[in-house]
Amino acid sequence: MSDYDVVVIGGGPGGYVAAIRGAQLGARVCLVEKERVGGTCLNRGCIPTKALYTSARLLASIREAHRLGVDTGHVSFDLARAVSRKDAVVEKLVAGVEQLLRANKVEVIRGFGRVEKRGTVRVEGGEGIQEVKAKSIIIATGSDPASLPGIEVDGHDVVTTTEALAFTRLPESLLIIGGGVAGCEFATIFTAFGSRVIVVEYLPTLLPAEEGRVSRIVAKSFAEKGMEIHTGVAVDGVETVQGGVKTTLSDGRQFVTEKVLVTIGRSYNSDRLGLERAGVKISEGRVAVNERMETNVKGIYAIGDVVGGVLLAHVASKEGIVAVNNALDREMKMDYTAIPSAVFTDPEIGSVGMKESEAKERGMEVTVGRFPYGANGKALCMGEENGFVEVVVDKATDRVVGCSIVGAHATDLIGEVALAVKAGLTTADIIETVHAHPTLPEIFLEAVEDSHGLAIHKVGRRR
Ligand SMILES: Cc1cc2nc3c(=O)[nH]c(=O)nc-3n(C[C@H](O)[C@H](O)[C@H](O)COP(=O)(O)OP(=O)(O)OC[C@H]3O[C@@H](n4cnc5c(N)ncnc54)[C@H](O)[C@@H]3O)c2cc1C
Repeated sequence: MSDYDVVVIGGGPGGYVAAIRGAQLGARVCLVEKERVGGTCLNRGCIPTKALYTSARLLASIREAHRLGVDTGHVSFDLARAVSRKDAVVEKLVAGVEQLLRANKVEVIRGFGRVEKRGTVRVEGGEGIQEVKAKSIIIATGSDPASLPGIEVDGHDVVTTTEALAFTRLPESLLIIGGGVAGCEFATIFTAFGSRVIVVEYLPTLLPAEEGRVSRIVAKSFAEKGMEIHTGVAVDGVETVQGGVKTTLSDGRQFVTEKVLVTIGRSYNSDRLGLERAGVKISEGRVAVNERMETNVKGIYAIGDVVGGVLLAHVASKEGIVAVNNALDREMKMDYTAIPSAVFTDPEIGSVGMKESEAKERGMEVTVGRFPYGANGKALCMGEENGFVEVVVDKATDRVVGCSIVGAHATDLIGEVALAVKAGLTTADIIETVHAHPTLPEIFLEAVEDSHGLAIHKVGRRR
């Protein structure tokens, strides 16, 4: 007889959501966590960055307030206070998750968990070693910052995002290695706070996963804010020197900055878990799973960052729900067709579904509708005319299959589009839905109308 129906190793947004959903479905659930529940997302990822991002955007808005007729006088900024507010937000959310776990009667065991064999997890923690037996095991151990060979992160001068979130004194200058999502979000935050920011990206563009037009708008906006962007170049070395850190690029250029932030991706926490011994297949560090989130070993599931793919909190949570349902014999499959992504730069980015190029690669005939923020009443009232919405429509079915948004509140606007893509809504469904005026969602409506040459506030396209 097992102690539990399910034991989850790792209490991030994948693991704690799986645990709570399992309990809601009537299962006896145990959650093993070596640090604090909430994982990367709550403690050193999504939440702390967005708390600081909010301070940064407010500061940037206040500096621009004169354009809207508001004179503020001298504006000062206290990073230590912004960081302590960020910490308070994190504490509140972590405490909330702990309370939810208790209320759902999920047993939380503190310690490092590893799979002893199928159905048994060995936990090593402050209270010694204990064995937990369960019918199913869910691996939700997440990821950690990846390292770059030859670049030593000392946590003080050369840091990862974790240490950068805890700076209490603003660095005068910051060189960011990696122009992906995290690099660009930190560039946005520290530029607004007042640091001189340099971003170095190995690939030819910033935010390489986004549509070219989207990353170009962000790069232009970064340059206008005074950031220095170097793309298509590698970092050869980083060394601590008198007065800062010297970074040498592969083309020989050198920069000395107070701090260097390394954001070049994540490494998967799949080692030291006893998985190989249990016969679980691991491919390039990622735990291999099927669409039910089950590994090749029956009864062992894996979810979230540790399975690779799209490393986002809401993906981890959804995978957790799929895994725990299957563990409890409720058949469920993971569907990645409508995963929204939100990038908190200035301007923001939201995207979901297929890009035009992807749809074409799949042999789809598509129409693209576009609408600029600059032709939307609400955006103009807000002084936010920079950006656009681009929708990709499958000609055969008239369904919206993808969308990219760059501009103010793109990260919120993408929600409506995710619903449309997931529900398989046609352009007719969206056009027949009355959108409130004046609001930003009208930009999505007009982009959809534009795919038929019917955007009222846009001239140029004819049916
Ligand atoms: C700076 C930054 C900003 C981000 N911003 C966003 C964002 O805005 N939106 C978004 O969707 N995503 C964002 N992410 C990504 C997001 O944080 C991750 O995708 C998400 O946390 C993954 O969830 P997870 O449950 O798979 O793993 P994690 O959140 O990494 O949780 C894994 C947990 O497992 C525990 N653990 C590991 N090994 C063991 C073990 N052997 N025994 C016991 N416990 C163990 C760890 O302590 C940790 O608590 C961001 C990430 C970073 C770094």
